[in-house]
Amino acid sequence: MNYKTSCSLLVVLLAIVAVLGYVVVNQPVVEDYWKLRNDFLKHEQHRTFGGDFELEDWEQAANQVLMKAKRAEIDDGCKKPSKFLPSQNFFVAAEKIRRSAVFKIIQKMPKGSILHAHDTAIVSMYYVLNNITYRPDLYVCDIDRDPKLQFFDKPDHTCNWTLLGDLREKRNDVDRKIRQKMTMNSENSELAYPDSDAAWEKFMSIFIFITPFLTYRPIYEDHFYQGLLEFYNDNVLYLELRTTLPTLYDLNGTKYENVEVAKIYKKVTDRFLKDYPDFVGVKLIYAPLRNCKKIEFNEYLKIAEELKRQLPDFIAGFDLVGQEDKGKPLVEFAEGLRSIGNDVQLFFHSGETNWYGTSVDENLVDAVLLNTKRIGHGFALLKHPKVMEMVRDKSIAIEVSPISNQVLGLVKDLRNHPAAALFANNYPVVVSNDDPRMWEAKGLSYDFYEAFVGIMSRSADLRALKKLALNSIEYSSMNVVQKKKAKEIWNRRWEKFVVDLKNLRDNTEKI
Ligand SMILES: [Zn+2]
Repeated sequence: MNYKTSCSLLVVLLAIVAVLGYVVVNQPVVEDYWKLRNDFLKHEQHRTFGGDFELEDWEQAANQVLMKAKRAEIDDGCKKPSKFLPSQNFFVAAEKIRRSAVFKIIQKMPKGSILHAHDTAIVSMYYVLNNITYRPDLYVCDIDRDPKLQFFDKPDHTCNWTLLGDLREKRNDVDRKIRQKMTMNSENSELAYPDSDAAWEKFMSIFIFITPFLTYRPIYEDHFYQGLLEFYNDNVLYLELRTTLPTLYDLNGTKYENVEVAKIYKKVTDRFLKDYPDFVGVKLIYAPLRNCKKIEFNEYLKIAEELKRQLPDFIAGFDLVGQEDKGKPLVEFAEGLRSIGNDVQLFFHSGETNWYGTSVDENLVDAVLLNTKRIGHGFALLKHPKVMEMVRDKSIAIEVSPISNQVLGLVKDLRNHPAAALFANNYPVVVSNDDPRMWEAKGLSYDFYEAFVGIMSRSADLRALKKLALNSIEYSSMNVVQKKKAKEIWNRRWEKFVVDLKNLRDNTEKI
């Protein structure tokens, strides 16, 4: 061994000793490892959604029932991932979700508010098809190619109109054809909608199809009342409804616009509150289409201010709707939006996209700079750390609508939904249903189920559900008195829900 070789060996030996020394010094002793691991997991659980809540003893027992059912579903899914319902397309999963034990619990749970839903898509398919389309004076034309429905006293000459009732007597495929025009559901939605543009095209065509018959004033009123009833029956106590305030008509030719339509909403809400005094109320977010000319946009702003002036407590604020990827970005409207009266709050849809670094993706930046009170969807939020900071600092709630995001092509398997990271870090999240009739859902429970079982952690428990409900009250536009009433009603119902759930365990144990 020459001098050079021995020096090299010495260097290698010293390096090994240094590495071993580093490992020994920096590795915890074995007993400490398990404590460290335990503390680590505890820390993560504490900072997760609902982790800051403590369950009381009576809630602990109910939690066990809930978690037994949830773990069973997730563990079955781990054994056979393709059977896990939140990983399946909602159209395939819906029927099976209805049989899920967790879903049945969530249905009974008082869920607080719906803070993100759209006017003409809130009512179940069943009611629209089997009630509304069976009303008198409803005419149909072009049933085989491009069906249209509208109410008339006497039909106009724009189409070859026939009374729908008469056509039903001659043909038995009429309801099937109408249903196809009103739903995103299709035999194979992956083939039907190869990308989100295809899904949005169908989605917008449904709004175009239903508007002419749904905007007959008496039908519009009944439809809205039914929407409130379906939400109420699904244990929801308050609604903030985004509406384009479409022009309504009567058969004698009378038309109703903007403020008049808002007053019709108010009238129906008051009637509903009289019939169901433990429902807390409704507020409107005026939300016209974002794909508009500047002159139209300026008109929208004036309407928003007028609505707020005439119905200050009933109008929550302003938003723009329609496919973000195809509509204009918020930055194009920034100047106008900065000039809107301070008492008109903003509630922007933003970041409802898979694109990164586009003007649409940057809507999230404009939304927070323009002082949005909440963010609709915020699907792209994780790509904007500074926006995430502002969301946290300014308590801007993110309105997550899992099924909508899946049906409209942003995510196939809901385990991959970005809201998982928001839940992991206890961001201010609310879960909403967006447009339930479009995918033949009803109420809010389906979206709660997908979020709770599919997006949140396996260990997210009753505290996470409680947090979802309380957030939906906290981040609403209710005033102090309304929030107090909402919380009192919610607390009473929560107590009953938890006791019933606990009794379920007691009864099962007796059996
Ligand atoms: Zn929406």
